[in-house]
Amino acid sequence: CGIIGYIGERSACQVIVKGLKRLEYRGYDSVGIVTEENGKLHIKKGAGRIDELAEKLGLLEMPGKRGIGHTRWATHGVPNDVNAHPQTDCSGKIALVHNGIIENYGEIKEELLAKGHRFESDTDTEVIAHLIEEELKSSESFEEAMRKALLKLKGSFALGIIYTEEPDRLYFVRNESPLVLGIGEGENFAASDVPAFLEYTNRAVFLDDGEYAVITKDSHVVKKLSTGEVIDKPVYEVEWT
Ligand code: GLU
Repeated sequence: CGIIGYIGERSACQVIVKGLKRLEYRGYDSVGIVTEENGKLHIKKGAGRIDELAEKLGLLEMPGKRGIGHTRWATHGVPNDVNAHPQTDCSGKIALVHNGIIENYGEIKEELLAKGHRFESDTDTEVIAHLIEEELKSSESFEEAMRKALLKLKGSFALGIIYTEEPDRLYFVRNESPLVLGIGEGENFAASDVPAFLEYTNRAVFLDDGEYAVITKDSHVVKKLSTGEVIDKPVYEVEWT
């Protein structure tokens, strides 16, 4: 399973499909990509191999210069097209991908169902999108809503999150599941592992558990999930091999 995110001036889907191929060694049963252009999300996903789905769904012909890709190793919900990531909220403005397991997703789902949320998939992941949507109602910003929602989760998660109302950024979160940023020139990346973006940059920032990153094409900032406080993280130059 794996995650690759891109924001910059290139065709996001091209970078993402290549990145997903480089993460294939991690194993997966399904593939999905979200890209954004002019405030509209484009989502293509399904169960199967990357090459076969790229052909069948046209993964290399998606508009937009920011996006997130995912390979899924199913833990909650059978491997099928609906359960593939990205998963979205009711409004369709939030899309996210997830590697890991949300242990308390059952009780969160019950609460959200009672509040009127409707779910399409059987995944534990989908509840995260709806929980952020719910927290948005009583938050000053998307980032605050995201933090409040994620602090309610128990379990392991690496996440990539996109929100249509904030066109210049992507969010990535790490808790007991790997995630590393790739720092480029006028473009930035995030992935489960360095090889996914090494073709474009060898400058990497390794997130630790309980940390999240906000990346734009020209900046990256890492913060503590618990407090939202900025953390000074070193940028490593990874050796090319
Ligand atoms: N628990 C999530 C699911 O089953 C994510 C699995 C993964 O790590 O790919 O959809």
